[in-house]
Amino acid sequence: MSTDLKTVEPPLPGTAVERRPAPVVRCRRCHRPLHSPESRWEKLGRHCADAPERTRVYVIDQDRLPGT
Ligand SMILES: [Zn+2]
Repeated sequence: MSTDLKTVEPPLPGTAVERRPAPVVRCRRCHRPLHSPESRWEKLGRHCADAPERTRVYVIDQDRLPGT
């Protein structure tokens, strides 16, 4: 009964110091917390990076040459 309680040991000092809480990086578009290193670096989530801007889509559409 009491043997199970004794198996629980506190974390070794030194190991907890290495693990610092990472700052929360949020997507600059939808402000969702980012987890992947690439998204955190660009501050832009994959879900937003893959989605093209709607304003840009209009520009691309008008940039098409007529007659093609
Ligand atoms: Zn996003």
